[in-house]
Amino acid sequence: MTDRGAPNILITNDDGIHAEGLFALKTALGALGTVYVVAPDRPRSASGHSITLHKPLRLSRVRLPDGSQGYATNGTPSDCVSLGVLDVVGGKVDLVVSGINWGPNLGWDLTYSGTVSAAMEAAIMGIAAFAVSVASYEEEISFDYAAGFSAHLARLLLTHKLARDTLLNVNVPNLPADRIPGIEITRQGRRRYTGKVEKRVDPMGRAYYWLGGDLPLDELEEGTDVRAIADNKVSVTPVHLDLTGYAALDELRTWGIEEFEPGSRRP
Ligand code: MN
Repeated sequence: MTDRGAPNILITNDDGIHAEGLFALKTALGALGTVYVVAPDRPRSASGHSITLHKPLRLSRVRLPDGSQGYATNGTPSDCVSLGVLDVVGGKVDLVVSGINWGPNLGWDLTYSGTVSAAMEAAIMGIAAFAVSVASYEEEISFDYAAGFSAHLARLLLTHKLARDTLLNVNVPNLPADRIPGIEITRQGRRRYTGKVEKRVDPMGRAYYWLGGDLPLDELEEGTDVRAIADNKVSVTPVHLDLTGYAALDELRTWGIEEFEPGSRRP
């Protein structure tokens, strides 16, 4: 928290400025500080950590359901964080929260996720951040629990210091509080999508493709995000920006990769 009084909180998402989860988040965080809303002008789910470099970005004012003002951009979730931090807030940003996403962000979902990538962008900028998702694709989503939990976590992040280059990835079951048995600090699990490409033929006889049609296969190891959600628990995973495969470093150094000499014909 800054010594200037109320903290500045920036929120964004990848489901777009009109998403119900974004507004639920804004409402829940309102008591903690000044909440700024900068979100994509349309759904950008699974846009990953993409940023917009080759066309101009625009910010347009949008009236939110409570009458307050937010900003929509033609950019990606990560662009929203840059625009929010560097332009809209116009001061120190104490916390960035991305969500509340409609749908899970578990296991291998993380690098595809626009929601999580926005929080990563904030972590790169050295700002405390978390992503929050309701881990269900059901039509009827309740954001109540996730919104309340987000306020709880936001309060903690404003008073504690998280390790450098680290953000939090939160997944909440789509259940009322009395059916959620607990909250677990987890590690990233494994979630694999099968039958990822569905090939069909259009009326002209040409092939077209749908990606990611099937339900994911989760490896339900104890202590992972996928396992916590399978057990109807809230999952909180610390995520590090460093993607280095440390376990492979020593082995890789024995392969001779560093001995390459341009022009040598050694087999
Ligand atoms: Mn989304």
